[in-house]
Amino acid sequence: MIPYGRQEVTDDDIASVIDVLRGEWLTQGPTVDAFERELAGCVNVNHAVAVNSATSALHIACLALGVGPGDTVWTTPNTFVASANCARLCGAKVDFVDIDPLTYNMSIEKLAAKLEREPAPKVLIPVHFSGRPVEQDAIAELAERYGFRVIEDASHAIGASRDGEPVGSCRWSDITVFSFHPVKIVTTAEGGAATTNDGALARAMRDLRSHGVTKDADRFVQAEEGGWYYEQHVLGLNYRLTDVQAALGRSQLQRLNAFVGRREVLADRYDTLLAQLPLERPRRDPRARSSWHLYVVRIDPTRATVDRRTLYDRLRAAGIGVQVHYYPVHLQPYYRALGFKRGDFPRAEAYYEQAFTLPLYPAMTEADQDRVVAELSRALWTCPGTIDAATLL
Ligand SMILES: *Cc1c(COP(=O)(O)O)cnc(C)c1O
Repeated sequence: MIPYGRQEVTDDDIASVIDVLRGEWLTQGPTVDAFERELAGCVNVNHAVAVNSATSALHIACLALGVGPGDTVWTTPNTFVASANCARLCGAKVDFVDIDPLTYNMSIEKLAAKLEREPAPKVLIPVHFSGRPVEQDAIAELAERYGFRVIEDASHAIGASRDGEPVGSCRWSDITVFSFHPVKIVTTAEGGAATTNDGALARAMRDLRSHGVTKDADRFVQAEEGGWYYEQHVLGLNYRLTDVQAALGRSQLQRLNAFVGRREVLADRYDTLLAQLPLERPRRDPRARSSWHLYVVRIDPTRATVDRRTLYDRLRAAGIGVQVHYYPVHLQPYYRALGFKRGDFPRAEAYYEQAFTLPLYPAMTEADQDRVVAELSRALWTCPGTIDAATLL
């Protein structure tokens, strides 16, 4: 099976991990500190707070911004459930802003219209879907006008930039969140991070990831009792990344540019190879560099003779690991139980009916890609039952 995505782990990555395993620190220690500094440098931001997943990063980002019961958070329906769940974990309400039918990101026009009609949310969580940067400058203007905070879910988008500004620099937002799950751009096995330029937010997130406890004597509110003494100031969690994972992350981060560069080459190659097929290819943003986490195509129903499900099943049977990103979050049973229903966000629903993700990862060879395209054209053009696909191989 050619998967839709997979990690690339080299001997150097493995050696870095083994070094840490032989040393003093296994859980959060100096390697996490170094990883955070390097990550912050990489995306040109003041602070990076590493945690054990992007889900955890989204949770403490919401908590640090004061999201709680009685508040509302808006995100996009075309995302992984974690982008919405973080608000629910804080006891807040969730609502969605429908997508732009060309970029598949949250629609800025829909956002502006919704802000005209309804009270602004406490926090907005746009998602850089597939690695294509959201127009954060436009969102920042609306945030200023209507008074809400912004967390960028950049789980897909480390290494991406727009107008030369790296995603994660937080030039137009309060906090940005990254994921280091193996299927994403760089990996720490499980892992994530939150970046910010605001020192107080960074400190709040550092406290929250480790039980709400501080060992910083300058911050003690009671008299310190000795070298062992620490204080808990807020209700926190154990969301720490380990030094073992951070070692992998540091080693991987050195290849960030190469990872994205290889993805770009393959995406360009898909564009050419797929040009004759009845598919809608990803639209490019001339102002942005995508990190190409996902290469998503849509079936053109006026030209294709198969539906998405048939196509998916045929490709899977042929060993091509296509995927679908995403089943709209508001249609998940958990969110339907909160009152959302089909028809609420029609663009995300229509997009979902036609979309599928083709395999794309740095170690993918051109031969792998040619095979994907050959199977895809065969699956698209043959009518069910008329031709035995095996005879065509
Ligand atoms: C993968 C992903 C997450 C969650 O990342 P984890 O590190 O697995 O917790 C959140 N949001 C989006 C958009 C994602 O793709």
